[in-house]
Amino acid sequence: LDKYQVFVPPPKCLQKTFVAPQRHMFGPGPSNVPPRILAAGAEPIIGHMHPEMLEIMSDIKSGIQYAFQTRNNMTIAVSGTGHTAMECAIFNAVEPGEGVLTAVNGIWGERAAEMAERIGARVNSIVTSAGGYFTNEEIDQALTKHKPVLFFLTHGESSTGVVHPLDGIGDICHKHNCLCLVDCVASMGGVPLYMDKQGIDILYSGSQKVLNAPPGTAPISFSERACQKVFNRKTKPVSFFLDMTWLANYWGCDGKPARIYHHTAPVSAFYSLRESLAILAEQGLENSWQRHKEVAEYFHEGLETMGLKLFVKDKNARLPTVTTIVAPPGYDWKEITSYIMKNHNLEISGGLGPSVGQVLRVGLMGGNSSKASVDMVLEALRDALRYCHKSKV
Ligand code: PMP
Repeated sequence: LDKYQVFVPPPKCLQKTFVAPQRHMFGPGPSNVPPRILAAGAEPIIGHMHPEMLEIMSDIKSGIQYAFQTRNNMTIAVSGTGHTAMECAIFNAVEPGEGVLTAVNGIWGERAAEMAERIGARVNSIVTSAGGYFTNEEIDQALTKHKPVLFFLTHGESSTGVVHPLDGIGDICHKHNCLCLVDCVASMGGVPLYMDKQGIDILYSGSQKVLNAPPGTAPISFSERACQKVFNRKTKPVSFFLDMTWLANYWGCDGKPARIYHHTAPVSAFYSLRESLAILAEQGLENSWQRHKEVAEYFHEGLETMGLKLFVKDKNARLPTVTTIVAPPGYDWKEITSYIMKNHNLEISGGLGPSVGQVLRVGLMGGNSSKASVDMVLEALRDALRYCHKSKV
């Protein structure tokens, strides 16, 4: 016994079994994972280079091509969350000293700017108020002025509840010899999006929103034009883990017969991701887009009937997946979200970045996008406004 003496005792807390509570996950993410996807993640582990695994990765690639509406060969899932894909895009597309322009109408443009700064890019931003978006003319002018190699735009701004129009922006970027990078973490599957037709060069998403898979994998795709830049760099990207030269081989996108070990794939996470993409394919992307729109409109009407105000004034710019509600005056928003969690077992959240203190955010994504969920949220809000108001008087 003395031979293997330990000095840090086994922690008492680990003696308790953990059972995750069942909650309505109606915040901006993660969303509820349906039993079919959870079950897929509970399948036995196989080797990350076994033939079945390579087939799963190939299926995932096809599923992402469908969800992104692209025929790009360079389409993979990054092992990591949305932020990982964001860094993968920026780290591979930009070399130190090159120019990046980010569109900031919420937190994601700010974060993209910070990531680009960290790798020594010359970063400029165009900024508009939370709840707003940019016209194509504004983008065109900024590109003329700053001449970046990469332009970053968020399609579904989950911190403000804005869906950014995309038509024409890819062409404008190309006119300026600039790559168009779009974040669709919060919009993919819930809002029409056509990577190829809209001329998007790099597009990434996440698993835990409309796809209803667990957090931890992130779809990303590179156009031919993006590949020209990414695979003709003078310097290596700062991250080994996110180097697309390695990842392209790992995902069988580089045409080479041998796959070289790069990292151990999160096997169970890939099972779940594959299943979530299978469900999207079964249901049909168009149907998913339409359902998210109809459910959001039903929700927004319900909110306005209750006397609540929507944060995004322009109806067409309201993101169907994540709704921002003006924080009701006279109430403490934290009290509302806590009350709803405690009494309705339901998560909604406050603002993020520039919208902190200004809004409540409700995400209805994938399987959670239903009129039944809307009714539940409206009831919870009605109850909270009654209770929280009384407590203030
Ligand atoms: N972009 C957007 C638009 C998002 O909504 C999120 C997640 N809230 C992210 C990026 C980052 O994703 P993750 O939290 O998975 O890293």
